[in-house]
Amino acid sequence: MNQAFSAGCATGPTIRERGQHEVFCGLTSIIWLHRKVQDAFFLIVGSRTCAHLMQSAAGVMIFSEPRFATAIMEERDLAGMADMHDELDGVVDKLLARRPDIKMLVLVGSCPSEVIKFDLSKAAERLNRVHAPKHRVLCYSGSGIETTFTQGEDNFLTALVNEAPASGPQNETKLIVAGCLPDVVEDQFTRLFDDLGIEGVQFLPGRSSAAMPSIGPGTRFILAQPYLGAAAAALQSRGAERINSIFPLGEQGTTAWFKAIADTFGVPEDRFEAATAAPRKRAKAALQSFLPWLEGRRMFFFPDSQLEPSLARFLHSETGAEIIEVGSPYLHREHAAGELGLLPPGTAVSEGQDVDLQIDRARKADPDLIVCGMGLANPFEAEGRLTKWSIEFAFTPIQGYEQAGDLAELFVRPLRRQSVLKSGLG
Ligand code: SF4
Repeated sequence: MNQAFSAGCATGPTIRERGQHEVFCGLTSIIWLHRKVQDAFFLIVGSRTCAHLMQSAAGVMIFSEPRFATAIMEERDLAGMADMHDELDGVVDKLLARRPDIKMLVLVGSCPSEVIKFDLSKAAERLNRVHAPKHRVLCYSGSGIETTFTQGEDNFLTALVNEAPASGPQNETKLIVAGCLPDVVEDQFTRLFDDLGIEGVQFLPGRSSAAMPSIGPGTRFILAQPYLGAAAAALQSRGAERINSIFPLGEQGTTAWFKAIADTFGVPEDRFEAATAAPRKRAKAALQSFLPWLEGRRMFFFPDSQLEPSLARFLHSETGAEIIEVGSPYLHREHAAGELGLLPPGTAVSEGQDVDLQIDRARKADPDLIVCGMGLANPFEAEGRLTKWSIEFAFTPIQGYEQAGDLAELFVRPLRRQSVLKSGLG
């Protein structure tokens, strides 16, 4: 199953566009990161726009003790920078005095001009000197200029990797699973690693900020999310070696992913079969009822999360859908090669975006379903076209065997809704 991913459209031409693009910024990833790392607090150093984005995107947090907030920085000249550092120190002091449960404070940079001038890593260093070891302080950029929304996670994991301890005889992590996974998926994967007899596995990020992997030559890592180019490079620069695989979406993706790990750690074939046979069967059975909705349906992916090549591969290989175009804001050729290699030759692959040109292509192709960001979905729906918000794939547990049916259902929902509406009207 760990095939040499070279066929399909992995080597075909890519439409490269660098025009206007419509994606959320990296701050958005805080919504799933703060749920995962339960003793962390994400403090956005930003503007009122950033505060509004977070408040509307994650408004539900007002009902609980929040674990993210925005320190609003007003516009000022360079001479006012010292005041800005003092202001931030004051905000952090107050926050940590009121919330001693915070073990890791993460300063998240943003893109308003007043924040770009501000040296966040210097601020994190200074605050660390004051508050560590009780509260660790680190920083990363969630700016919308350099990142799409999933790259916020990439930058966060890179910051974690940079401060992870070196591996040694006492603290050896054998395998790092890199990429934020919902707890339910992490638990299922942990059980499978146990069944395969693979020990020393650490998830990055873990549920607690103290759960840091040790990294060094001899550490293997596998990506659980496709948008982690910077984190993968940081791991490799510490000597860790990447296990190559497609991503654990659907039965095929999950089996290939576990098989790549099992082969690396020398798990015998019969043990692999015994551990995966039942969940594979369940995943295939869960997909069955959705196939009549998806077989032969024509799908068009706008670039949004970088999950697009994996989602397209899943739809094509496991449900028989036809992929018209698969767009990704950025294509890491090496990490995406396996997914693209499993798409049929001739599938249009695009990287980056020139939104007007892409809208024209989508209208011309007239697909059955358009997977796109929220900003494009409403206008398409107004034209009578069916859409699916791509951000839902980042918020929903979709990885692993037990979620294969849920993943298919996410694509089926709009098709089913249309069918119900049509029969109601008919
Ligand atoms: Fe807007 Fe930039 Fe703030 Fe994101 S980081 S909300 S793009 S101002």
